[in-house]
Amino acid sequence: MADAILAFLRSHEAEMGDDLRALVTMDSPSTEPALVGRCIDWAADRLAALGAEVRRVHDDGMVDRLVATWPAKATATCRAMILMHLDTVWPADETTRRPFRIEDGRAYGPGVFDMKGGAVQGLWALAALRDTGAWPAGLGVTVVVTGDEEVGSRQSRALIEAEARTSTLVCVLEPAEPPIHAYKTSRKGVGGFQVQIEGRASHAGGQPEKGISAVVELAHQTLALAALNDFERGTTVNVGVVRGGSRSNVVPADASASVDLRVRTMAEGERVVPLILGLKPVLAGAKVTVTGSVNRPPMERTPAGVALFETAKRIAAELGFDLAEAASGGASDGNFTAALGVPTIDGMGAVGDGAHALHEHLVVAEMAPRAALLARFLQSQAGGA
Ligand SMILES: [Zn+2]
Repeated sequence: MADAILAFLRSHEAEMGDDLRALVTMDSPSTEPALVGRCIDWAADRLAALGAEVRRVHDDGMVDRLVATWPAKATATCRAMILMHLDTVWPADETTRRPFRIEDGRAYGPGVFDMKGGAVQGLWALAALRDTGAWPAGLGVTVVVTGDEEVGSRQSRALIEAEARTSTLVCVLEPAEPPIHAYKTSRKGVGGFQVQIEGRASHAGGQPEKGISAVVELAHQTLALAALNDFERGTTVNVGVVRGGSRSNVVPADASASVDLRVRTMAEGERVVPLILGLKPVLAGAKVTVTGSVNRPPMERTPAGVALFETAKRIAAELGFDLAEAASGGASDGNFTAALGVPTIDGMGAVGDGAHALHEHLVVAEMAPRAALLARFLQSQAGGA
C-alpha cells in the first residue's frame, strides 16, 4: 500500500508543481484580506473537488477561514485535524520582484516553504488516499485553512480551538525543521510585552538635576529584563525595540520598549510573566508601566505527541528515509491545539529552508515522499496499513 500511495504522488509531481506555482504566485500578506482571500478561494475549490464539505467562515474586514470535513467524521475512530495557513510575511507585490521559479531542484518564491508547499502536499496526500482507495473507513478528516497565522491568529484562534476540541489529533503543515527536516513535537510559547517609562523633562544644560531621565530608567529595566534570560531552561527575554527622548539637550520624559518572551513550559511562563509585569522603577520619581501576556502557550513535549512522532518515523523508514524529531523556538497554530491537550504533531509540511527570509526555498523532489508520509500517517491513525 505504501508503494501505491508514493507511486501515485510521484506520478503527479508535475501537477503538484503547478499547484505550488499557482499558490505562490498569489501574493497573500496577512494584512490584506482580499489578497489572502484569493488563496482561500483556491483552497476551497480544491477541497470541494476532493469531496469535502467546505464551510467558509466570514467576518467583515477579516480574512476568510475554511473548515473542510469529510463526512466520515461522525462515525470515525480517528478524527484528524489538518491545520494550514495561506498568508505569508511578504508584501503585496513580492511576487513581481521575486516570481516563483525552480532552479536546481529547488522552488523559490514568497511563502513557498512557509507554508504554501505544505498546503499543496496536504491536499495531495488526501487526493492520494482518496484516489488509490486507501482512505480507511474509520478516518475522519477536518482541514482548517486560515490566513492570519503570521500576525498571531487573533481572528482564527477560536475556530482552531473549537475544531481541535472535536479532533483526536492535529497535524500541522508548517515546514519541517531545517537543516535536518524534522517533525516538531514541541514549540516554545511566545509572549509580547510593552514597557512604558515616564520620567520628567528638563533642560539638559540649565537644570539637569530637575529632570528624571526615562532613557536611563529604561536602561535599568533593559538590564533587568536581560537578566531573566535562562538559555538552559529555554527561557529567552529579548528587548527588541527601544525608543525614547526627543532631543539631545532635553532630559527625556518618555521611553518605551517592546519585549519578546519565549518559554518551553506553561510552568515557566507562570514563573517569568509576573517578574516582567512586576518591574519596579530604579530612579526616584520614575514610573514604569508594563503590559502584555503570553499570546501563544507552549506546545510541550508530551508522551502522546512523541508516540505520534514514533509512528511517523516508522512509516518514513518504510518509505526509505530517516525522520528526525526537533523542538522549535518559534510558535505556530499547533501551540493552541497542543495546549488544549490534543496530541499535536508539527513540521509535517515542506522540506527546505529560509522561512521569512529571501533564500526561502523548498526541495521539489521531497514533496511526494513527504505527502506520502502524511497520507500513510493518517491511514495508520485510523487503523489502516
Ligand atoms: Zn508558517
